[in-house]
Amino acid sequence: MAEAILRNIYRIKVRLPNSPLKLLNSYYIRNPGGRGLLIDTGFNHPDCRACLLAGLEELDVNMAETDVLLTHLHSDHTGLAPEIAVPGTRVYIGRGEIPWLYGQTRIDLWAADAAGLLRQGFSAEAVAESVQDAASRSMSPDIGFSAYLPIDAGDSFVCGDYTLEAVETPGHTPAHMCFRIESEKLMFTGDHVLFDITPNITNWVNADDSLGDYLDSLRKTARYDVKIALPGHREPGDYRARIKALLAHHEQRLAECFSIVKENPGFSAYDIAGKMTWSIRCNSWEDFPINQKWFAVGECQSHLRRLEKQGRIIASDDRVIRYRVKERRG
Ligand SMILES: [Zn+2]
Repeated sequence: MAEAILRNIYRIKVRLPNSPLKLLNSYYIRNPGGRGLLIDTGFNHPDCRACLLAGLEELDVNMAETDVLLTHLHSDHTGLAPEIAVPGTRVYIGRGEIPWLYGQTRIDLWAADAAGLLRQGFSAEAVAESVQDAASRSMSPDIGFSAYLPIDAGDSFVCGDYTLEAVETPGHTPAHMCFRIESEKLMFTGDHVLFDITPNITNWVNADDSLGDYLDSLRKTARYDVKIALPGHREPGDYRARIKALLAHHEQRLAECFSIVKENPGFSAYDIAGKMTWSIRCNSWEDFPINQKWFAVGECQSHLRRLEKQGRIIASDDRVIRYRVKERRG
């Protein structure tokens, strides 16, 4: 279950139920004689719990002597943090993520998400179904837990011989953090850079241009010399090459979105997403499972927003937002 990666650094593979992501990587850094660190946890779900607890036991982890670093607020990363924390455990996450994790602001975020889906062209029935189905809710960390401690860009965490530096990488979420160990040319990339799948970039209600932020973060993190890139899901890979490929992928997606808008003036994000190419195996857009539609429309919307910020398309102010190409004069 647990796998050694480098001296005192281990990976615990946490299986994700019913998720195309398949696997969450939880990383444990042992600190003989001092406090250890655990990065990310898995969904708040029995299958994930069994995997994580087995890994922690195998590695003989004492949670009272361990702090938890969360790369970002998504439930597959944060879900089990409140329950594995014992008195003495400190749970850290990017400062900007904290309000969205618990209490009323979390509930408000869910409501804003649902309202956003209607404006993107989902039917009221589809929104109700998606709310029912949402892993972000049913497998989320206990919303009564509020003891998160903030991480700011550049903060460092010393763990034995290693020093982890927090590298803020907004985009996938507004205050996503990667953690870098400069001495080993190592980066824990969270969901900022994944190798076997493309990180989902959706437009956040509290961010003006999530895809723009993400592309900036990719360019920023491309400058680091990283030999060992440890992602939040599945397997590691070539860091620089992957960043280059992700930048190219989004350029291509922007071009695809633009041509769909050009050919179909007045389409909503829902309609446009239905015309984009997706790797999912379904006969038609109508056959997409509701949560895959939710991801697809979110992804589409973040690209539409980028095109809008570039001055290439216009979004209407209707109850359902409709897009058209901006006419160039002169
Ligand atoms: Zn994520």
